[in-house]
Amino acid sequence: MDMKKVLMLSAISCSAWLLFMLVDFIFLSALSITAASYSKIFPNLFFCTLVLASFLTMGIISGLLALIIYYIKEKLFAIKPSDIFYLPLFLSISLNCVINLYLSYRNLLMLPSLVLITIGVLSLSVLQVIFMQLTSYFKKQLLVAVIALSVSVELCINIIRYFGAGGYWLNSLTPAPVVLMAIGISLFVFISIYYGVMPKIIAKKYCAIVMLFLLASVAVLSWGKATAKPDNDSQLPAAEKPNVILIIMDATRVDHLSCYGYERKTTPHIDEFAKESVLYTKAYSAASWTLPSIASILTGLYPGAHGAHRVEKADNIFSANKLAEDNITLAEILAQSGYETAGVVSAEFLVREYGLHQGFNYFDDTIYIYFFALSAFRPLSFFNLFIPIADYLWANGLYGGRVADQINTSVFSWLDQNIKKAPFFLLIHYIEPHDPYLSEELGISKNAIPEQTRKKYANRTVNYTELERSLIYSVQAGENPLLPEEKALLVNNYDREINLLDKKIDQLLTKLKEKNLYDNSLIIITADHGESFGEHDLMLHGVMLYEDNIHIPLLIKYPFAEKRKGIVNEPVSLTGLAPTILSYAKIPVPKPIQGSPFYDLASQKIVAQNFRDPSWGKREEFKRFDQDLISLIDGDFKIIKSMGGENQLYNIKIDPQEQKNLIGENPRVATRLLTTLDNYIRNLGLLKKKENQLELNQIQIQTLKGLGYVK
Ligand SMILES: [Zn+2]
Repeated sequence: MDMKKVLMLSAISCSAWLLFMLVDFIFLSALSITAASYSKIFPNLFFCTLVLASFLTMGIISGLLALIIYYIKEKLFAIKPSDIFYLPLFLSISLNCVINLYLSYRNLLMLPSLVLITIGVLSLSVLQVIFMQLTSYFKKQLLVAVIALSVSVELCINIIRYFGAGGYWLNSLTPAPVVLMAIGISLFVFISIYYGVMPKIIAKKYCAIVMLFLLASVAVLSWGKATAKPDNDSQLPAAEKPNVILIIMDATRVDHLSCYGYERKTTPHIDEFAKESVLYTKAYSAASWTLPSIASILTGLYPGAHGAHRVEKADNIFSANKLAEDNITLAEILAQSGYETAGVVSAEFLVREYGLHQGFNYFDDTIYIYFFALSAFRPLSFFNLFIPIADYLWANGLYGGRVADQINTSVFSWLDQNIKKAPFFLLIHYIEPHDPYLSEELGISKNAIPEQTRKKYANRTVNYTELERSLIYSVQAGENPLLPEEKALLVNNYDREINLLDKKIDQLLTKLKEKNLYDNSLIIITADHGESFGEHDLMLHGVMLYEDNIHIPLLIKYPFAEKRKGIVNEPVSLTGLAPTILSYAKIPVPKPIQGSPFYDLASQKIVAQNFRDPSWGKREEFKRFDQDLISLIDGDFKIIKSMGGENQLYNIKIDPQEQKNLIGENPRVATRLLTTLDNYIRNLGLLKKKENQLELNQIQIQTLKGLGYVK
């Protein structure tokens, strides 16, 4: 094969890839937009600019390359100018492969995926070569047919990926992706005809297929609309009942709020709110992570009883049992009693697929899912090496949970439209100060990160989020101890986030005051769980049941007419929140509820549960978490019972840090607490029950892994 032929054929191949990528890009962009439900097309200018910049850069590089090749060709060969069209982006293939391989390596994708990617890339190259060989013997039409085929196959794969995502985003399917897809395909057809590659007759057929596809999509869309649940009309007028506004801060440990005595003035506005509220100094969540804890708040049941917790078989952190339909939630009861119910939430575990939306007439669980965007904007992820894009996305709620500003926007617009629908129950969940502790746009100044820490953890990225993640996981895995300057860095940023959230909550309270909804509403501020900063060599939350994880803030502001405020020093469990609200609204508390209302302090069962994630057992460094735990606080003592491991007993009054395990020293107390606990386990049905696992498909799991979400 002579040089000329090689050039021409590789050029043909490149062009096919260019088109392929273009359609791929447009389709995946469509997916990203859909994922960012309610179709808020490209949320802002900066994001758009980055996308455009990355593609322009690619375009310029490939254009230059094309020019060089064209120049050489002019001098050395005589190829028709139209063939030049095929030249751009030989680079695109190689770059794409390199980026994918690099990202796979960087995100520590499991070996099998790496092997798969390599095999995929190699087989594609081989196919290209065979294809090139063939086209030199057959007519151009064959080439077009193969290009069309390859594009169609890619489309099919993407459609499968899309719908294969467990219907996760089906709820928010809008015409935007269909339109974008149509643009992509039309572009493909147009370019093909323009360059005379695609005979008009095939072009017509292709257009017909596109039209059919569009029609089908519209049909799916209208079907989706037709089967959407109608809003429940409130049957009973219940004007005498108070509005209930439940504010949940994520991962907020009680001792970092200034109204709870923290030496930093982190929460000046909540402190003011506290003066008008009942403040509980010993409030406990029923679990140490989001899903089971909020499920307990909403059902009044302990995790073993409501079942929304970790699964028996899991290989990623998003595997969990959803809250089964047969649970009765606070929102369901309130809705039945004539309340308008609305929830605005901000975490992966709170999207409706996990079942906590039960009973909410309106439930805004929008999450901007960058991992689709990540596959769409491959060049963009490459830019992550030089620009803190991940930081930007996190800080602006475009990756992970939405930030407080976005939540407030959604809440305010709901309030504006539903002000007349009193009484209402409004659940507001803020992701702050959940990790990453990134309180400022575009990350924190690198100067604020200790030199040593930067050197140790930030060698592969400019993103603070990645540095923080590396640091946290290396401590959690027992590879490195948390050094004092590292702890200071994390805690400073964590506190800054709490401080920011405090301002946002103040904006919310101000809005309520403006709308005359403050004075007469029952307003609750609490958290789903706490956070560890090196205590017991732990970071984050969700693996143990120590105080830093389950001791949370709880403030209840009653309508002013009640004149109820003050401080309660007796321990209460958040499972008691639902019955407290119901009792206050004079609605009978259904039998299944296990928590006791807060006015009944003697009946509080301070029990928390944490079920093991089976993936922990597979990794040596996380084996110590591989146990089902249940804790009980009784008086000054706290027992943590491990199913299969060693029990721990602490006197949390004199040893709140839980440093000294008294299990051997104080067998009498241990036995007493264990007996009580065993009674609870038996009578409340707290052992792990039937699985109700939310299925994630392999693609989702791999994508999450690719993101470095799971290490
Ligand atoms: Zn949480």
